[in-house]
Amino acid sequence: MSSVPSPEPTAAEPAQPDRGTPAEVQAPDAALPGAGVPDAFGRLWTPHRLAYIQGGGKPAGPGAHEGCPFCIAPTLTDEEGLIVARGELVYAVMNLYPYNSGHVLICPYRHLADYTDLTDAETGEFSDYTKRTIAALRAVSAPHGFNLGMNLGTVAGAGIAAHLHQHVVPRWGGDTNFMPVIGRTRVLPQLVADARKLIADAWPS
Ligand SMILES: [Zn+2]
Repeated sequence: MSSVPSPEPTAAEPAQPDRGTPAEVQAPDAALPGAGVPDAFGRLWTPHRLAYIQGGGKPAGPGAHEGCPFCIAPTLTDEEGLIVARGELVYAVMNLYPYNSGHVLICPYRHLADYTDLTDAETGEFSDYTKRTIAALRAVSAPHGFNLGMNLGTVAGAGIAAHLHQHVVPRWGGDTNFMPVIGRTRVLPQLVADARKLIADAWPS
């Protein structure tokens, strides 16, 4: 992965050739004895895609009250909204369409599109939350590196261009093998909800 991904939902199907299919998880029961007779069909287990299939996270328009998922998430419980931590001006939330386990987004509460629209106070907490996310991820899963960044505007790859968000993507050596290239599939060993709890519990106070 050479650039910051934008795996959020879009109204249309993925525009980026490297975006691939949202994260999938290998069926955990495939190797269990008595789980059935193996056949020739490969399977992927994708419970977190249910919300995607149901249309969740797809705004009807660019406004704050048109179903913007980053405006809705803070109104939910931490578990329902996949919120990792809440600050005064910004919050951290799991990406429902992660590129890797532990893919977190930092968002201002205010519905604004451009980084230059942040106040100084928002910029400060936005940066602080980025650091805390890195620290929490290091405590949970010891990544070898991180991709950080923002996609400003749809043309730059933002899935939800109307509401600014910064990606924090943990990386491990060998975390992208042939699967994203050949299979257009990203293998995630951990469910997003489980990752949320681990990172929230490790959040630096
Ligand atoms: Zn919004």
